[in-house]
Amino acid sequence: MQKSFLSYFISTIISLGYATQAVSSETENAKINKNTVISQSQNHGFKIITNNIKKSPADKATYQGIQLDNKMTVLLISDPKANKSLMSAILPIGSMEDPKTQQGLAHYLEHMALMGSKKFPETNGLDHFLSKNGGRNNASTSKSRTAYYLEVNNDAFDEAVMRLADAISKPLLLESNAKKELNAVNAEMIRAKSSDGYLLFDVNLAIANPKHPITKLSVGSKETLSDKPNSKLQDELQQFYQKYYSSNLVKAVLYSNQPIEKLQQLAVNTLGLMKNKDVQKPTINVPLYRDQDKQIMINYKPIQPSKLLGVGFDLPNNEDKFKYKSGTYISYVLSNNTEGTLSDYLIKQGLSSSGIQAVANPNVSRNRGAFDIYVELTEKGLTQKEQIISLIFQQIKKLKEEGVQESYFKEMKQSLDQSFEHLQTEKNLGFIEGITDAMLSYPLENVINAGFEADSMNKQEIETMLSQMTIENARILLMNQDVKTDKQTTYLKAPYSFKKITEQQKAKLLDFSHNPKIKLPEANPYFTTDFLLNKIDRSREKPKKIKFDLGDKIYAMGSKYFPKEPKAIISLDLSVAPVNTQLKPQVTATLLNYMNSLAQTKLTFQSSVAGINTSASYNEDSINIALSGYTQNFDKLLKDSITKMKTFELTENDLVQAKQQLIEALDRQKKENSLRQATNIFKNLMSYPYFDIASYKKIIATISLQDIAQMREHLLSKVSGIKVLSVGNLSDKQVLSLTNSVEKMITNNRTAINKNTFVDFRGQSQKINYIQQVSNEDDALALMYLVKGKDYLQDKVKSTLLADIISRWYFNDLRTDKQLGYVVAAQALHTGKTSGLVFMVQSPNATPKQIMQHNERFFKESYEKLIAMTSDEFKQYRASLLEKLQRKPESLDQEFMRFSSDFAKNNFRFDSREQLIEIARHITQEQLIDYYKQAVIDQSGFVLASQAVGTKSKLTDVASFKDFKLVDSIEKLQKTLPVSFW
Ligand SMILES: [Zn+2]
Repeated sequence: MQKSFLSYFISTIISLGYATQAVSSETENAKINKNTVISQSQNHGFKIITNNIKKSPADKATYQGIQLDNKMTVLLISDPKANKSLMSAILPIGSMEDPKTQQGLAHYLEHMALMGSKKFPETNGLDHFLSKNGGRNNASTSKSRTAYYLEVNNDAFDEAVMRLADAISKPLLLESNAKKELNAVNAEMIRAKSSDGYLLFDVNLAIANPKHPITKLSVGSKETLSDKPNSKLQDELQQFYQKYYSSNLVKAVLYSNQPIEKLQQLAVNTLGLMKNKDVQKPTINVPLYRDQDKQIMINYKPIQPSKLLGVGFDLPNNEDKFKYKSGTYISYVLSNNTEGTLSDYLIKQGLSSSGIQAVANPNVSRNRGAFDIYVELTEKGLTQKEQIISLIFQQIKKLKEEGVQESYFKEMKQSLDQSFEHLQTEKNLGFIEGITDAMLSYPLENVINAGFEADSMNKQEIETMLSQMTIENARILLMNQDVKTDKQTTYLKAPYSFKKITEQQKAKLLDFSHNPKIKLPEANPYFTTDFLLNKIDRSREKPKKIKFDLGDKIYAMGSKYFPKEPKAIISLDLSVAPVNTQLKPQVTATLLNYMNSLAQTKLTFQSSVAGINTSASYNEDSINIALSGYTQNFDKLLKDSITKMKTFELTENDLVQAKQQLIEALDRQKKENSLRQATNIFKNLMSYPYFDIASYKKIIATISLQDIAQMREHLLSKVSGIKVLSVGNLSDKQVLSLTNSVEKMITNNRTAINKNTFVDFRGQSQKINYIQQVSNEDDALALMYLVKGKDYLQDKVKSTLLADIISRWYFNDLRTDKQLGYVVAAQALHTGKTSGLVFMVQSPNATPKQIMQHNERFFKESYEKLIAMTSDEFKQYRASLLEKLQRKPESLDQEFMRFSSDFAKNNFRFDSREQLIEIARHITQEQLIDYYKQAVIDQSGFVLASQAVGTKSKLTDVASFKDFKLVDSIEKLQKTLPVSFW
């Protein structure tokens, strides 16, 4: 669910929410008459519970909550403008319900449920059906719930619903599929071992009440999910399903372009067939943390280099009090970074680059919630961690004494109200996942607005919450590579240690006499008071040229799809000439930009609270400024932001911090999961100019504060042109006036506008092999096959459509059938004016050599399969791609993006989408077969194999390729390739 300013706190490395994915695969399709679903029942089979779902005025869909005769609650959303249809189903049953003898069972069941059902027995028939109809599905299991989702083209919705409903109502749960899915689950577990989010969560649970059901391993492994003396896995799986999968516990959502009456019938005829066993929703009354688990200091040694301090408080679950927004209130005041606040102090002193990130989580373990305060530390911050902890408690005390104020509540409420009033939600799997989760937590009427509704301030609620934010109730976490650890978690082997905070330490932390004075936040100056629409020519289908000469290219249009929203997106890109692609200016600009972003944090925070996103950045050959949101204060924000850019003080301390952060970010790349490290090689090669990490690190040390100052001076004085694109609530006059504001502050010499560059693979036929050793357990192999083609839009369509077809085959073969790993994917790749295909596998049990043997077999078989494919099937895939290409934008962001990529490529006709549609209409099966042949059979273009070899494999396990050149530097490889301009 979208949460306005909360989304500002992009939760860095911490993803404590545990969710797993299960994407399934194809088999032969079952031909079902699409009309059978509707015609079965004439009875009602349901009753309406509510027509009063609280929705945004911007949302024109019709909502209705119904209860089926089998007691299932279904939310129907009828939206005539729906681009595609969505469905979800959720049960309040998760890994907390796993039997101790079969940990991971709920997750394993989630996998198995999608492996064939009574009416659709073929393994993963649902997935095959969806992929042919422009759709996909997903599922996830958390500690407290299991959820299934799908999206599909509108005309295939009825059958898709029927299939997913059958999967959860009558899954076959065949033992013959067990081994395959156990391998997938186990591979997920091994992959989790290279994720700090999972590991940290595991550490948290290792220091909790072992009697609380949350402490079991939720993902499962071959070890936990196995036959034991009194517990046979297959029997337990069946029993678990029988015990918990009851219609009265299920909540479902159907979103489509069909009228409500048809959706009612669809629900009755599909979800209505699930059996009602009147199962009670599980409850928990065991404490999550015991006394010994609080007032403690936890050390965790992360996989990727990072320094994080966390202060967490154990609170009761308060989901039922969502209208008071007490937790949101406290996090708003604590995270605020106006002058003199704790966040401001931490940033200015160089103790943290982002200040305080406070997050209220009302439901952690069904019975308990939490309030967590995070500070990402710098090197300096790490040495002063005790003082930072002390300052956090000092600020909480100040909040208790004078911080519960109506004015802050009003600001927060205004932010939430405005966000909800003008809510633009893209209707995708994320959207439906959010609503479905909300259905388990909030009254049906509030599932859409629960995150936004702030009734009135409840002083007592806030004070009660604050009163529990004490050191006695705290768990303090320090995450850092150098911490000492003496323990490991049972399954994921996460290294940690913990100690009780002594009374003496406590007294010291709570002695604030030596601390600086910290203020509470100031009022926000950027709130919009005037939501009037500007006078704009609204007939434009595309951005219109407002000014076009050597040094100015300005285009603008009103929103075609959101004409009544007082919002706009404008990007202003200032070219700096001459362009310098050497390493030193690149790194200097990166460091300068980091220092600039530190200086801009206050403005970025405040404007985001007021519903405006601002960004202003320095690059080695450009200055980029962008604003999006309510337009009233754009001019003020633009001026404030540029003033900061030009005048913020350059200090040695900030430079040291910038260098440390950059080095840490470089080091982190070497600790990512195996597949990411393998595919990063593609990304690096395609981004120009690229420098190897070693070159980068060497130059960082040589950069002085004077270099930084000169770089800023250079960028601000050598602007040679400006490109402006605006979509939304700004008239041509306003766009020109904003541009003038910029040019008054940064002189535009009007000599030329830089063109974007790209690494040009068009004439290339090279075969490259790159091998790296990684510190994870599993291996990865990623292959990139580019095609030499001349018409890049044609190639783009071909590769996209090919990937739509073969990605399911690839997944089904290498993952479902051969069980090579959890991540198995084939995708289209577009870079510069070239396209191609990418195949990737991350595997805990197969070496790159073995994966490659399967790849070679797959390429041959899939080539034959492509030739043998019926023309009807091909046409269905093509029609589905066409439908996807013609979807309307669901937000101003999407509308803007439709034009911004053409704009970046100097295509001022803004017509590449129309061209793609026209090409897709006429693409033939023969053309695809030929493209596939050129790409993977003949390998006639640029080919790159990237291998990541984990700790369990030997270097002899790498795949060997005939006629491939082994390279060890992507920087050097890139230097051999031509670079072109758009
Ligand atoms: Zn899974």
